Order: sequence, then structure tokens, then C-alpha cells
Amino acid sequence: MRHSRRTFIRLCTAAAAGVSLTQGFSPLVHEIFAVVLNGTRPPVLWLQGQACTGCTVTLLNSVQPSVADLLLKIISLDYQPTVMAAEGEQAWEFLLETARASQGRYVLAIEGSIPVNWEGRTCVIAEHGGHHITMLEAVRQLAPGAAVTLALGTCAAYGGIPAARGSQTGAMGVNALLRQYNIHAPVINVPGCPPHPEWIVGSLLLALQAIDAGMLDTFLKLRLDTAGRISWFYPNVHINCPYLPDFERGHYCKTMNDKQGCRFVLGCKGPRSACTAWKTGWNGHVNWCIANATCIGCTSPAFPDGTSPFYANPEVLW
Ligand code: SF4
Ligand code: SF4
Repeated sequence: MRHSRRTFIRLCTAAAAGVSLTQGFSPLVHEIFAVVLNGTRPPVLWLQGQACTGCTVTLLNSVQPSVADLLLKIISLDYQPTVMAAEGEQAWEFLLETARASQGRYVLAIEGSIPVNWEGRTCVIAEHGGHHITMLEAVRQLAPGAAVTLALGTCAAYGGIPAARGSQTGAMGVNALLRQYNIHAPVINVPGCPPHPEWIVGSLLLALQAIDAGMLDTFLKLRLDTAGRISWFYPNVHINCPYLPDFERGHYCKTMNDKQGCRFVLGCKGPRSACTAWKTGWNGHVNWCIANATCIGCTSPAFPDGTSPFYANPEVLW
């Protein structure tokens, strides 16, 4: 068995046992970085479509690993509109050259949904030789050559807010778009509005290791849930919630200020949602959604239309 394959299987075993893949860079992860990546960092090309840039901000908030470690030691983020110094045609030419030079090996990271109405002209992301490059054109051009595409955030995964009721642009998530254009390419959804940095980094790390071990197809078949997410990062919120005992004995809080009691009657969507925020917390593990409010189901393919109104008593709704 190839060494990288053995290492990848160990990583999967650790994840299955509940060992955090990214928090604090466990010794196992350190070892894997050192052995498998072996000094070569795969290029990551990051495109932004219809988005609020929240997924970029959440990645920049990564505490463990720090964003410096992530960018300097783990990946080579070769194109990222918010953080790169280059801009304009020069930047786009660099992206195309990187994609050409690393055909079949680069990771395509997509933030934001992709509009298809009016041939995608509501979202122009670059200009090259007098030609406006739409997000639609860029994704169609770059996804087939990527080793894997990460659909970062609920907008890229399922359409999200830009595709909500009333949308005029024909906003779509990556998988739906590729299906529409009959493009077969591996995609991992990393939903959340925004996704936690651990889900982004963890999904990227596992994808890189699976590619290196020559096991990407098998891994995706085994580990993607029905919503296209790596299941380890998306367990059910409700059954892991510290308020579950309160839910079971019917102890509900009446206002967001109550520190005790389940938030179900305030509209909590935890029973139909999936993530690890109950374990990872947000903002450097300071708190999490349900500690001060309710779950709004931001990782759900149905978000936001199917999970709103966010703060309505379900007895009124159902
Ligand atoms: S607060 Fe929400 S997720 Fe937690 S037990 Fe109550 S309904 Fe479930
Ligand atoms: S707990 Fe709910 S609102 Fe918070 S990140 Fe998870 S799915 Fe989104």
C-alpha cells in the first residue's frame, strides 16, 4: 500500500473517532502535512460569484490553524480576489496560466452562487482582452480541469440567499450548474452562512489527502452525505445540542435572554440542521449560535426560504 494511502486511512480513522482534524493541529495532522504534502503545496484558485465575502472573512478568522499557517504551510492560494495584491488582466492571466500548468491538480474554491440568466452577465468577475468574464463562464471553464471543486458556503453549495424567493438572476449552486451543463467533476459542498473555518480547512485537507492517496472517488462515495457535504463536519445539531435534555423534558425558554431551556419554541431549526458549531464554537470558540439565539438552519440546502421565518414558534408554523 502506498505510504500516502496508509496515512490517508489513518486520517479518516481519526476523523471517524471524533478527533478534530484542524483544531490545534493535532500531532497526527502535523505528521500528515509533513509526510504527505512533502513541501509541495497544491494551487488553490478561489473565485467569488454572488456573495457577501463572508466565506473569505470566516477563513481569515481561522484561529487554529492560523490563517498564516494555512496559507504559507498548507496550501498555495494563488488566486483570491479579496486578499491577493494583483488585480486586473494580469491577475486573470496568472490564474489561467496556473490552471494550465497544473491541469487536473489544482483545487477550485467557489464562493457565492452563479447566476445563469442573461448568460450570467449579472456577475462579471474579470475582464480579459476587452472581454467580460462572467462567473458562469469561469466556472464552466475551470471546474472540468480541477482535481476537486469546493463549493464554499451555502450560496455556492445550493444557491443560498441570492437564489431565495424573488431572485431575478437565476442564481445556482455549483452542483446544479454543472449538472445543467453536463459537466462531470467532483464537488464537495461546504455549506454554512458562513461556514466555520474548520469545515473549510478540514474539507480541503481531506480532499487533498484523498487525491494524494488516489482515493478521491472512493472517499466521496463513502463520505459525502445526501447534501454533498463531508459527513464528519455535518452531524445533526439537535441530537448534539446541550439543550437536548431540556427539549426532552419540555423545558423551553421564553426569550433569547434566557440562559436555560431549549430554544425550540423560539424557532430553533436545530432538529433539521447539521453542523459542528455546538463543538467548535465561533470566533475562536467564544460561543455558538444557540447559546445566544437559535439555529437558523444556515447549512441546509433549503436555506433561507425553507428555514424561515427564523424566529417563529413552530407551533404557529406547523
Ligand atoms: S435548542 Fe434547538 S437544537 Fe437545541 S435541543 Fe432545543 S430545538 Fe434542539
Ligand atoms: S447551529 Fe444552525 S445556524 Fe449555527 S452554524 Fe449550525 S446550522 Fe448554521
